[in-house]
Amino acid sequence: MANSNKIILKDLAKQELSEFVVRQGLEPFRARQLFHWLFQKNVAYFSQMTTLKKEVREKLQAIAEINLLDSVSIAASQNEPTHKFLFALHDGNRVESVYMEEANRRTVCVSSQVGCALNCDFCATGKMGFRRNLSVGEIVEQVLWIERHMGKEATNIVMMGMGEPFLNFDAVLRAAELFSDPEGIAVSKRKITISTAGVIPGIERFTQEGHRFKLAISLNATTDEIRRKLMPVTKKYPLSQLLTAVKRYTDNSPYQITFEYLLIAGMNDSLQDAKRLRRLLAHIPCKINLIPYNSVDSRYQPVSDRRLNGFVQALATFSAPVTVRRSNGLDIQAACGQLYTQNVKSK
Ligand code: SAH
Repeated sequence: MANSNKIILKDLAKQELSEFVVRQGLEPFRARQLFHWLFQKNVAYFSQMTTLKKEVREKLQAIAEINLLDSVSIAASQNEPTHKFLFALHDGNRVESVYMEEANRRTVCVSSQVGCALNCDFCATGKMGFRRNLSVGEIVEQVLWIERHMGKEATNIVMMGMGEPFLNFDAVLRAAELFSDPEGIAVSKRKITISTAGVIPGIERFTQEGHRFKLAISLNATTDEIRRKLMPVTKKYPLSQLLTAVKRYTDNSPYQITFEYLLIAGMNDSLQDAKRLRRLLAHIPCKINLIPYNSVDSRYQPVSDRRLNGFVQALATFSAPVTVRRSNGLDIQAACGQLYTQNVKSK
């Protein structure tokens, strides 16, 4: 376990890293080298930073920290190249991340918080309650740790693990900047998706600040009544206001938005729902991603193939492209909404 008094280099913005380097009496260009080693070369130890003198590496090791996560367990799916990682943070809290591979696409699904405050009724993480926000470094390190472990680089990053990204806005956006930095992890902004349950102030800030990351909204219902039941956040941010905020985003952005729509048997999977969905989204340039519900407990049932096909058919002539998300990692509880860890403190 790391010494908490050490400087967490991966929490620093580029400018702060430069200031840190100068404070240590090093030449300013060393900041760029350090950044490279941390985020592009992705080394796990200061001793690997061979462009820095040995004394410098030793000094850095004494005062700064690279590793922010300890692996608790890694589960590999029997059926596909999907891995679920359980990490311990320095304070003993735990988070999960998922790695998925499909053709040439390697996606890491990262957590943004320990637990989640939104308590969506269908989501395992919601049952944990909220513990704390992750720091920038803790978010970024999930990808770096997994890349080191897999020996492969991620092509796509989705903020769809534990937590609500827009309730940890600053850290999530700074992490996304680090993910996309061409001198570092270098994943293109369009391949970094931030998914929100519909926290309107976050959507508005994202719009105003003009970010170029991909935005996804977990819609999951077509009436306030059903959505309130599934997603209590609807009480604070009702559908009409949510869709107004989304429209403002698409009006001010060259990009589409993605709506995720979880299908739960008998809850939101009727043809009327499909019709209402068409009406709600008629004026928003978007893509629709249907996600068959993955079982978390016995209160909800997955949608049947027949109902799923019916729903897809009902959207067939809609202007927006519709995709159905195949679930990866069901056998290791790594599929959407299944991330849950007991918050056992390990010290
Ligand atoms: N809080 C963010 C990100 C985490 S949830 C958000 O709400 O978008 C990521 C996605 O997983 C959401 O689209 C959510 O609707 C979906 N999801 C949650 N629980 C699920 C479950 N049991 N089965 C399938 N998808 C689920």
